[in-house]
Amino acid sequence: MSVDDVLRHLSVEPAGLDPAPSQMRGRDAGRRIGRHPRACVGCGRPARVTGIIDVPAYGHRWLDRCRDCFLATVDLEPSRVPPTLEGILADLRAAAAEARVELRILVDERGDRSE
Ligand SMILES: [Zn+2]
Repeated sequence: MSVDDVLRHLSVEPAGLDPAPSQMRGRDAGRRIGRHPRACVGCGRPARVTGIIDVPAYGHRWLDRCRDCFLATVDLEPSRVPPTLEGILADLRAAAAEARVELRILVDERGDRSE
């Protein structure tokens, strides 16, 4: 599945999506779907979910969706979960470092890892 599948399902042209930074920062999502939410790119209702997609030839764009459009397309999105345990642990470490919290990772006995 790909971002193209999501856009095709919603009948969205990427040129019409708002340009976005490469990564979500701080309160970006809250500003887009908070008190005065943006319109869903699929149907125009108030957006309840937002995210940043990387569209070939268009770059990073905001994808604001209402609940129904999100649920209709969430299975089409490429997985954001790294495919390996090491990738998942790297993501967790990066998130902990960004949040400045101590991280303790325990993996089941077959994973043989404890930090
Ligand atoms: Zn919608």
